[in-house]
Amino acid sequence: MKRIEFDDSLVNLHCHSHYCGHGSGEVEEFVQAAIDAGMKILGESEHCPVPDGHYASTRMPLGDLDSYIEDSRDAARKHHDEITMLCGAECDWKECYKTYYEDTILGSKALDYALMSIHYVVDENGYDVLVVHNRDNNPKFLSQYTDRYIKGLESGLFLFGCHPDLFGMMYETWDDQAESCSRAIIDAAKALDMPLEINGLGMMRKIQKSEDTSKSEDHMYPIPQFWEMASASGIRTVVSSDSHHPEDVAGKGRKEAEKFASRFGITPVKVSIENGHPVLI
Ligand SMILES: [Zn+2]
Ligand SMILES: [Zn+2]
Repeated sequence: MKRIEFDDSLVNLHCHSHYCGHGSGEVEEFVQAAIDAGMKILGESEHCPVPDGHYASTRMPLGDLDSYIEDSRDAARKHHDEITMLCGAECDWKECYKTYYEDTILGSKALDYALMSIHYVVDENGYDVLVVHNRDNNPKFLSQYTDRYIKGLESGLFLFGCHPDLFGMMYETWDDQAESCSRAIIDAAKALDMPLEINGLGMMRKIQKSEDTSKSEDHMYPIPQFWEMASASGIRTVVSSDSHHPEDVAGKGRKEAEKFASRFGITPVKVSIENGHPVLI
């Protein structure tokens, strides 16, 4: 049987409902919004809980995992003739969670796919620092972010790497280090044939006019210099909304991210479903 391939524009695999801890809306409302927008594949990807409760303030509680899966499966059954609904997770990479992601999230809990992100770095006292809340331009944090991001890609567990240039929130200057870290992430993605994401939520994170930054764009990320390099290297690319509310599934951020991709001559992947799992082509 010929496999059906959908344009990336008809697919969204990066969404967060109320389950993620800082989003809103029921899973059912996200599916409905995707159907209304004419999409063919929708994947929820809540911020994945971890067994030691780490990152609890910004994550789905572990105790909600089963009802999240149940809600997603219910919505998938209810709407199966209108859309393919998948249940996924966005996972913060840390070596110590590798077995859990592999054996529990993708194993016994049988989620359909997992995405990889780095939202945190660790300071000299061992405390987590949220990338989006730190504006120190700290070169050590940028190196750490880059190393972790590449290790996450290398784990082989994930469908694609989310917002690789999220570091633009904490390291605002495009300098030699920003360039070499970007180069390292892009080279790793290329060598592993791992797609990276142009993120619609970043398009909506506007820079305040009063802020003094060297950025040429009005948003924090995606970073144009990063995607210029990514485009030249020929890596595979996904565009997602990273929506945290149903109305954003196919909203302004997503559309701006699509325009951003075409500015750099980037044609996003096509997406197919094999044995219930998304495959990026
Ligand atoms: Zn989030
Ligand atoms: Zn996300």
